[in-house]
Amino acid sequence: MKVNKHYQELEESYLFSTIAHKVADYQAAHPDADIIRLGIGDVTLPLAKSVVQALHEASDEQGRKETFHGYIPSEQGYPFLREAIQRYYAGRGVALDTAEIFISDGAKSDLGNLLDLFDADNTVLVPDPVYPVYVDDNVMAGRRITYMPASAENHFLPMPDENTKADIVYLCSPNNPTGATYTRSQLKVWVDWANAHDAVILFDAAYECFVSEEGLARSIYEVEGAKTCAIEVCSFSKIAGFTGTRCGYTIVPQALARDGMNLNKMWLRRQTTKFNGVAYIVQRAAAAVFSEDGMREIQQNLDYYRRNAAVIAAALDEAGVWYCGGKNSPYIWLECPAGMGSWQFFDWLLDTAHVVGTPGEGFGRCGEGYFRLTAFGDAERTKEAAARILAALKTLG
Ligand code: PLP
Repeated sequence: MKVNKHYQELEESYLFSTIAHKVADYQAAHPDADIIRLGIGDVTLPLAKSVVQALHEASDEQGRKETFHGYIPSEQGYPFLREAIQRYYAGRGVALDTAEIFISDGAKSDLGNLLDLFDADNTVLVPDPVYPVYVDDNVMAGRRITYMPASAENHFLPMPDENTKADIVYLCSPNNPTGATYTRSQLKVWVDWANAHDAVILFDAAYECFVSEEGLARSIYEVEGAKTCAIEVCSFSKIAGFTGTRCGYTIVPQALARDGMNLNKMWLRRQTTKFNGVAYIVQRAAAAVFSEDGMREIQQNLDYYRRNAAVIAAALDEAGVWYCGGKNSPYIWLECPAGMGSWQFFDWLLDTAHVVGTPGEGFGRCGEGYFRLTAFGDAERTKEAAARILAALKTLG
């Protein structure tokens, strides 16, 4: 028998294990050091009250014969949730048919599963640096991967030019790790390019809820022409703290066809064959996010994280350190000061400020020399961390 040898081509990801080891070693050597972690992208606030209430109510329904729900009538998701998402998009001028909305157990699964729709003999274009999952999903399938460098020069928002060639393009906006966010006019250039080149854009909108500035896109479908070239993947993880509850959604437009086949129909077929839907109670919880109370509570949580981002940004401003993100994103992407490399800065910050972040190099070669801090921490600890970072940076002169 033969196994999928492409798994041998995967590079080991040492990023978070190396960080964990370094922090553990440091703590062992300095037992009194009060270390603050601003490294991991997980949320820290609990689920909103309305969401928890929906979980309780739905659990009770599952315990009564009259209201029990078994297999989900449609693997695509309950109409009540798909309609709530439809209204959420309509609220910003994007018209979707509920047949275009597919409920998932999170963005990560669908970012990988969507590749079932595409031949292995396609070229994939991935930004560097970026969420590492895109690369590994394609390495496993043996696809050719090319990279588009993101840097301070292109504001960490790579754009296509006359030489850009690819069948599948990943765009992540607001970006993890850089926090950089495409404007609608920039996305229009990508959409026109994809339509002209018969390519498909996989648009990861997991952080759309953080976008607050005018002119920036929260969905690629805010751009004319996107429905004939783009699939959008989104998540309840960051908007509503579902990282441990698991729910997301994917939009595959009915107008999206390639190579003589309709991708919406293909995805429906794929999902009905390989997926049995998301738990009823979780879908009820996700729908509660869009209720009036849910939205209000969730905005309070997002504002909490936004304030954390502002506190970190203010410290970097005062220290004169270059960064992007933080405004429309929970991530702050800074240039390591004094010419330090990513890991060098990691060690220096841990030792000088007892603060942990993520070396940019872990997200791609172009991340070398940069560093990611997250706003998902506790507010008081973030203030303390920002004060320590500022004091440490000042010692560099
Ligand atoms: N997409 C990006 C860019 C992410 O950063 C993450 C998680 O950190 C995900 C997707 C995964 O989202 P989910 O929790 O819905 O699987």
